[in-house]
Amino acid sequence: MAKKTETYCSFCGRSSREVELLMPGLNGCICNECAAQAYKISKEYLAQNHQVEDIDFGSVPKPTEIKAYLDQYIIGQERAKKYISVAVYNHYKRLAQKNDDVDIEKSNIILVGPTGTGKTLIAKTIARLLKVPFAIVDATVLTEAGYVGEDIESLLTRLLQACDYNVQLAERGIVFIDEIDKIARKGDNPSITRDVSGEGVQQGLLKLLEGSIVNVPPQGGRKHPEQQMIAVNTKNILFICGGAFEGIERKIALRLNTHAVGYGIDANNRRIAREKLLHYVTPQDLRSFGLIPEIIGRLPILTNLEELDRDALRRILVEPKNAIVKQYIKLFKMDGTTLQFKDEALDYIVDKAIEFKLGARGLRSIVETIMIDAMYENPSTGSKTFIVDKEYAQSQLKKANFEIIQQANN
Ligand code: ADP
Repeated sequence: MAKKTETYCSFCGRSSREVELLMPGLNGCICNECAAQAYKISKEYLAQNHQVEDIDFGSVPKPTEIKAYLDQYIIGQERAKKYISVAVYNHYKRLAQKNDDVDIEKSNIILVGPTGTGKTLIAKTIARLLKVPFAIVDATVLTEAGYVGEDIESLLTRLLQACDYNVQLAERGIVFIDEIDKIARKGDNPSITRDVSGEGVQQGLLKLLEGSIVNVPPQGGRKHPEQQMIAVNTKNILFICGGAFEGIERKIALRLNTHAVGYGIDANNRRIAREKLLHYVTPQDLRSFGLIPEIIGRLPILTNLEELDRDALRRILVEPKNAIVKQYIKLFKMDGTTLQFKDEALDYIVDKAIEFKLGARGLRSIVETIMIDAMYENPSTGSKTFIVDKEYAQSQLKKANFEIIQQANN
């Protein structure tokens, strides 16, 4: 019988008995440790040399799959979720397209909706699904070059930072520009005085949105003239803009009335129509609000988010994959305690969020205020169960002077 020959790793020389796994190749073997090391080295090399893999379009989730993923985290906002799913899918088609006569144009997105309705959450969730570099920037800090504030290019700095300055990765990333409405032109007439935080910023932003090679300061922030600039091509960067556009309903109503909508409907329907006005938002309304037409032209996908009603707030507390209530249950479980929120307590939390106009953002701070004592004491007492009923929630908010603080804020 032939004697079994010992095999060795061709890289470190260790025998099959000294390693967990030895993988044979054509003319040698590699052990699991050397393979892991080789993977690490090649990853670092590729990152440094900006070798980014081509988009495998076949593996990109379909719009219905993207929407299903969003559904796990975002309650309601069906229209916005659908629009975004299609836009992101098409963005990938664009990245994967072959060069021919037909060029699929970029479909940047603008989300219009009251604050705290999920605009940032949608953008963040999308970025997590797609595993592309993602940066959130606040438009209010941007000013025209040469003025106090951040240069417009600095929003690409954030994107570069999000992918360890791998330019190729950044060039297919997503930037969420929050509070885009705050850089609207003040007043309808182009003013003779400089409008450094309004139209000037829009002009600067335009360059980025339409796709051009932009010199980005690696450290961003305020001006550092000594910084070595990094050239970033924004052609394939997807921009998602969000804004509350407070008062835009009036502009929509005005436009709709002049087009004879609203006549012949009863008062009740008219009221509903007012609430739903945001549904009818068009690029024209953004223009009346003070965005320049060139910017609007570069944000072809316009959709709205709705005000969250009582039912939506209630669902936000318990339904999303990382719902607030689920998070607290997990926190308590780690101490061996089963935490339970009674329905009446959840209803009460929603009532308070509505009463103090705190919206979805306020739900967390209310629950936090209610739970602070329990989170402080429970790990030491180690009780098996902890039940939050309405009475407990009420007494905790009272103790923390929650109502007085909120009344003072409102
Ligand atoms: P904005 O529209 O101002 O960008 P955010 O997306 O930042 O609002 O929402 C603030 C927080 O409120 C989120 O982090 C999330 O916890 C909650 N929230 C808001 N809207 C929703 C929603 N539709 N579904 C689930 N949670 C939401």
